[in-house]
Amino acid sequence: MASNKKLLVLPGDGIGPEVMREVRRIIDWFDRRRAVRFELDEALVGGAAIDALGTPIAPETVAKAKAADAVLFGSVGGPKWDKLGFDMRPEIAILTLRKELGLFANLRPAQVLDPLADASTLKPEVVRGLDLMIVRESTGGIYFGEPRGIDTLPDGTKRGYNTEVYTTAEIERVARVAFEFARKRQNRVCSVEKANVMESGLLWRQTVTDLHARAFADVDLSHMYADNCAMQLVRNPRQFDVIVTTNLFGDLLSDLASMLTGSLGMLPSATIGAVGPDGKRHALYEPIHGSAPDIAGKGIANPMAQILSFAMLLRYSFGMEDEAKLVERACTNVLGSGLRTADIMQPGLARVSTQVMGDAVVRELDKIGG
Ligand code: NAD
Repeated sequence: MASNKKLLVLPGDGIGPEVMREVRRIIDWFDRRRAVRFELDEALVGGAAIDALGTPIAPETVAKAKAADAVLFGSVGGPKWDKLGFDMRPEIAILTLRKELGLFANLRPAQVLDPLADASTLKPEVVRGLDLMIVRESTGGIYFGEPRGIDTLPDGTKRGYNTEVYTTAEIERVARVAFEFARKRQNRVCSVEKANVMESGLLWRQTVTDLHARAFADVDLSHMYADNCAMQLVRNPRQFDVIVTTNLFGDLLSDLASMLTGSLGMLPSATIGAVGPDGKRHALYEPIHGSAPDIAGKGIANPMAQILSFAMLLRYSFGMEDEAKLVERACTNVLGSGLRTADIMQPGLARVSTQVMGDAVVRELDKIGG
């Protein structure tokens, strides 16, 4: 039977292949126990592709990503490739995919699983039950705006500058994603900018407000200045459901939000594009952590962020809410049973390897998902 779930797996470098191995076992579990067939393909990216193919991402891999229903990405990079020119850096793989697939909205959930409420640097009573999603515009704004540069002034000193620029269309398409996702969650969106001091922020606020009135009046919309949002995320993060914001503010706020949850090794993300004429939406799922060269090859990486990225993929690319919840519940239960990889280790609990953690998730799936 042909599968309508075409999945491209790109493990990458460092701990990427180690944590991806555990996801492959979960995919196999679905194949065996739930008769959910994924048509899998795998390719090299990043340093691994540079070594084998002389390029961070081959054109055939980009073509495969375009043809796939979803891409599951590991992580790329490492000291071995740090000295290469910018065009040959492993990170070009992810930048190329974002550009070629038109992935403009970066979704970062910050969710505190109950057994890890003590792992946050904030008090457990502030973060327990936290479940927010930051939707960050990821292809526009000040990181890409022109003019940009460093000029030498007549007196020999220098002047560096970048431009924050957004069009109505860029704001609308990312706000639309935020509203649509809010409808699947608690139906609340907080739009974040600095409309008090930036014209681009003013346009952002007006555009989001107009779109809301036109197409999403059923969603509860609020606005907040970015500096206040940073403060509110630490003061009372549970007040938020979906936050939508610019590339720059999203970069800062999503890192802040991720640390509310305790560890990099726990956090998944998605980057998605617009719905095409064929009804398909390109999407790439990846943990927020990098290739962790300091622990690569030791078998101690936490596979949870990669596994939870797969759960996001099930939910958002394939509408498989029950299966996504099953995977998330299996991860929560395994942590609840006291197993910990080194990065989330707590006194009195059992420290285990990447593979033992993966084993435990698969066993838990057997138990709760029959
Ligand atoms: P990193 O996220 O790889 O590591 C930061 C720290 O967190 C390290 O101490 C690492 O051991 C730890 N860590 C990360 N993931 C973990 C996991 N799953 N389990 C346990 N511990 C984990 O960030 P870095 O050290 O700044 O970057 C290393 C390399 O990764 C660089 O080459 C960087 O460019 C690349 N990178 C790639 C991506 C990507 O592929 N999207 C993202 C970030 C960094």
